[in-house]
Amino acid sequence: MTVELEHDPHVLDLADRTARFVREHVLPVEDAAGGDIDAAGGDELRRQLQSVARDAGLLSPHAPTAYGGLGLGMVDRAPVFEAAGHALFGPLAINVAAPDEGNVHLLAHIATEEQRERFLRPVAAGDVRSAFAMTEPAPGAGSDPSALRTRATRVPGGWRLDGHKWFITGADGAGFLIVMARTSGEPGDAGGATMFLVPGTTPGLEVGRHIRTLDRSMVGGHCEVRLDGVLVPDEDVLGEVDRGFANAQVRLGPARMTHVMRWLGAAGRAHEVALRHVAERSLFGSRLADLGMAQQLVADNEIDLAATRALLLRACWELDRGERASASTSIAKTFAAEAIGRVVDRAMQLCGGLGVSDDLPIARISREVRPFRVYDGASEVHRWSIARRAVSRARG
Ligand SMILES: Cc1cc2nc3c(=O)[nH]c(=O)nc-3n(C[C@H](O)[C@H](O)[C@H](O)COP(=O)(O)OP(=O)(O)OC[C@H]3O[C@@H](n4cnc5c(N)ncnc54)[C@H](O)[C@@H]3O)c2cc1C
Repeated sequence: MTVELEHDPHVLDLADRTARFVREHVLPVEDAAGGDIDAAGGDELRRQLQSVARDAGLLSPHAPTAYGGLGLGMVDRAPVFEAAGHALFGPLAINVAAPDEGNVHLLAHIATEEQRERFLRPVAAGDVRSAFAMTEPAPGAGSDPSALRTRATRVPGGWRLDGHKWFITGADGAGFLIVMARTSGEPGDAGGATMFLVPGTTPGLEVGRHIRTLDRSMVGGHCEVRLDGVLVPDEDVLGEVDRGFANAQVRLGPARMTHVMRWLGAAGRAHEVALRHVAERSLFGSRLADLGMAQQLVADNEIDLAATRALLLRACWELDRGERASASTSIAKTFAAEAIGRVVDRAMQLCGGLGVSDDLPIARISREVRPFRVYDGASEVHRWSIARRAVSRARG
């Protein structure tokens, strides 16, 4: 088995151009707004930045070329998304932010030709945003998707959706939502879910409260969404009826890895800021960079960043080969979410008072990366499945 760890020159060139674009066009806006996307202009800013990215040939590197993208596979996405992630608004600027990026991936793989034209093309072009609506308030779906309660009932020509979702990123202003609803069985059953494509203007769909969370960089909020008699025609069923959980796997593994790529970029920025600080700061007659305990923090950051990249690339390589990569994406996601948090925390510590201030970007990066230990599968859920897999392997 050969695992190729070198990227093609055209991918490295794209990553370099993305890094330059982020430095010149995105970081100044983000710094001025303290990383708060609403303060920076929300959707209007997204359109402006995406217009510059489009002109520079950097928009939607993950989308299929037939839909206006650059057609990168998972391994090739890694350096480009990391370069974009250097700025918190960078992924949005090149149209690879969650949840649109994962939705593009899902639609490219399981949508019909007609659905791709109506839903994939506009989101890949940056003309609309989208959302993915799975999570529900207790006792509904969260870490355990089988608790799904949103109900889809058969009506002539389609389905009627009723339910309550929350924490739905980007729902406010989304052109459409991909809604997971139960078409058969009862909450607690492992199957019986179906995905539906629901335009944001559909009667009965109500986007409510933005749930205030630690992070501030995602456009369209993390919203409560109510579905009250929402009618969805048969042609807007995404994938097969009752195969929703299985089909969602097409999105889940890759979306976890692209989150790792983006947050790796943010952690890398925090680390670079700390490196510049320790190289310049003198105290107790030494440079901070020459004091042993500071060196340990710096070295541990280097180790966490390198290990995260290695696990990420391994999982992406499996995904590019068409494997499900359930084990490797679980391991990479769990390690990365925690390692990225450690890197940002050490960077903060190395910068002293400045580290927790708004004069440096580290404090806001810290707010952004913490929720990653919860979404895309909480660390405990992944450890649970990693352990079960290991034990069943040992039992043969
Ligand atoms: C910023 C943000 C954005 C989000 N965006 C979206 C979105 O766009 N669409 C969407 O559908 N959802 C979204 N979510 C929701 C997210 O997917 C859920 O929060 C996550 O799946 C956890 O579900 P829960 O909140 O119901 O927590 P619960 O399922 O109640 O879990 C709570 C805690 O229990 C522990 N736990 C869970 N399982 C186990 C286990 N097997 N063993 C031991 N401990 C366990 C974990 O520590 C977990 O954090 C978002 C969440 C956040 C914070």
